Amino acid sequence: MKKSFLTAILFAMFCCGSFAQPIYRFTVKVGIDCESVDSLGGEDNVRRQIARMFDKVNRAFNHTRQFNAVYDFVVDWDAFYIYDGVSTDEVHKPHPDHDYLVIIDGYKSDPREAGGGWYGGEILTVYHSRIHNDHFNDPFEPGAIDGIIHEFGHGRGMPDIYAMKVDADKNPIAPIGCMGTKCIMDYPYGETFWSKYAVNMINLSADKMVDIDRLVQAMCPDYLSFNVVGPDGKPVKGAEITFYPVGWYSYSVSPDPVHSVRTGADGSVTLKSGKVFPKTHSFGLKYPNAFVKAEYDGMTAYAWLPLYDIENAVFEGKDTYTLGLSLKDSKPSSPKDFVIR
Ligand SMILES: [Zn+2]
Repeated sequence: MKKSFLTAILFAMFCCGSFAQPIYRFTVKVGIDCESVDSLGGEDNVRRQIARMFDKVNRAFNHTRQFNAVYDFVVDWDAFYIYDGVSTDEVHKPHPDHDYLVIIDGYKSDPREAGGGWYGGEILTVYHSRIHNDHFNDPFEPGAIDGIIHEFGHGRGMPDIYAMKVDADKNPIAPIGCMGTKCIMDYPYGETFWSKYAVNMINLSADKMVDIDRLVQAMCPDYLSFNVVGPDGKPVKGAEITFYPVGWYSYSVSPDPVHSVRTGADGSVTLKSGKVFPKTHSFGLKYPNAFVKAEYDGMTAYAWLPLYDIENAVFEGKDTYTLGLSLKDSKPSSPKDFVIR
């Protein structure tokens, strides 16, 4: 099945004259708990289902042809195993002979079997667990497969886009939210599109095993630059720009600013990005987004600085992310009047 799919892709690329794309192969060791195997009708069926699942993972990386390479995640069937134990113990087992380990558990029969998803750092394992109680939940149903595709996006270096979003009612500065961007790494269910940021990050990772936090930190632009204009389109000197941080997975804006600056005579100001996005060990950067408020003489403008926007500047060869802010005369009456990115 996989072979015929790859053959089809290679044939299509040959016909379109873009045969130069490399193929990135990653080896995958798969383990599944014995209760799941019993519930799914035995080992033969489970092997078939896993093969089908990886066809879909490969298709998700290849069928939109957004990446610079063809991706081939290959299950090593000689290493496939069924375990009778605690899934979270399996997740942490080293797998030196394979790029990835995938632990499948549809049962969660033990209270220690908490969590799930991508385990990065030195672990490089997808814990494909479906639920948080002891009812069986099919790890091969369409939503589960969409979920594991998202986890392999992490495996290729992408952070969660949804971790950068903000709910409008959790923004104490102005009642507007940050909606994220269409992407498997934002909301994977029924989604087939990889955002520009995901394509950039996954292309950057290429065929290497990578650490998401290190990539996030490395791709932050050195500088942030703002050009503030008034309602007449002319530069505004002395406008105050305040940055309110957004914590990872917090969906909220902090009421405490992390930094503020004033524009110069030309209405612009440039600052080191570290003032707004300090480097940290976990997540690479302390914040994945910030809410920007520009103010001058009763006029305001607002904007967001999500990493999925600002880091694309570096992929375009720039060291500075530049943003224009247009001050509005009066306080906007509805969220659509705000300047939102
Ligand atoms: Zn995720």
